[in-house]
Amino acid sequence: MGSISIRGVTKRYGIKGHGPAVIHGIDAEIADGEFIVIVGPSGCGKSTLLRMVAGLEEISGGEIAISGRVVNDVEPSERDIAMVFQNYALYPHMSVYDNMAYGLKIAGVPKDEIRKRVDKAAGILQLSALLERRPRELSGGQRQRVAMGRAIVREPEVFLFDEPLSNLDAKLRAQTRIEIRKLHAELGVTSLFVTHDQVEAMTLAQRMIVMNAGRVEQIGSPDAVYARPATTFVAGFIGSPPMNLVRGRAAGSHFMVGDHRLPLPAPAPREGDLILGLRPEHVALDAAEGGAGWPMQVDLLEMLGAERLVHGQLAGTDFTLRLDGTLTPPAEHSTVRLQWLPDHLHWFDAATGARIDP
Ligand code: ADP
Ligand code: MG
Repeated sequence: MGSISIRGVTKRYGIKGHGPAVIHGIDAEIADGEFIVIVGPSGCGKSTLLRMVAGLEEISGGEIAISGRVVNDVEPSERDIAMVFQNYALYPHMSVYDNMAYGLKIAGVPKDEIRKRVDKAAGILQLSALLERRPRELSGGQRQRVAMGRAIVREPEVFLFDEPLSNLDAKLRAQTRIEIRKLHAELGVTSLFVTHDQVEAMTLAQRMIVMNAGRVEQIGSPDAVYARPATTFVAGFIGSPPMNLVRGRAAGSHFMVGDHRLPLPAPAPREGDLILGLRPEHVALDAAEGGAGWPMQVDLLEMLGAERLVHGQLAGTDFTLRLDGTLTPPAEHSTVRLQWLPDHLHWFDAATGARIDP
């Protein structure tokens, strides 16, 4: 129960689906009870995919199954799903209790059963003391919890979330993230959570589906996606700040970037045009006077408290380092030498952006 299969799913908008394709064939298998985050930049098709799972958008090609049943032609109300949107639009004239109970009332659920389910959801969401209030008497975070309560009382097989935290301020977003994780640990309901925010994706996902322009770039756990991004797109999207990507040509034990010749500890996985990836946190400063590390020109420092970002140029390419905030930083407009561990070098095909493993 609660599994979701997405097989070769495509989507074209427009009359009878004759518009341009926005989803180009997506495959994903989601197990019962998994918390999956769909992450990608605005416009890449996340909401469209979620709305096809919900039944709010027609599927142009392929099929979607929920709990083993193909639902392409099944009405949203028959799919055993509950959805939480960014604009959760509570009924302003109804109490918190009635907002949460409304869907069940419409569905003809008996009164004591409604009472039981709302009380339980209110307990989980810490809304028990607020049930008689109107939405305008609640904070943004509390309203958001009511919207989740509305979904929980339905006791669905699947929760679908479309950027539900986007209207909250940063602090509340971080708190609500933790609440959603606790909620999932407690209820164990299969969840598909859409966000454009990679930090949200990293912190919430058991596995994430990274999307770009209507296609899947990578599916994997946050650890796996961070450690081994499948493409330069994923490398540049996951991680904050993102992985540095330097375009050049591998020749023997050197990487040629324009006229710059960067020594490599071991030859690249192949010769010729490649993109080298190095995360800002995997680079250190070579303290030795006249050290042999790669020279980086420092343009700008950003102090973030625990850490400091150093922005500049490596062989004419933008490059960022992340240093411990307690270390004495290099001076702006100086040149520093970089040290890194060979294990942390990533290589990508210059034409396709696909990861190359040694
Ligand atoms: P995301 O949620 O990742 O920001 P969407 O799924 O909303 O992206 O949109 C994906 C693409 O489909 C975008 O190019 C968007 O303009 C287009 N699109 C979304 N909804 C419609 C619609 N109802 N009609 C036509 N095009 C749409
Ligand atoms: Mg969207």
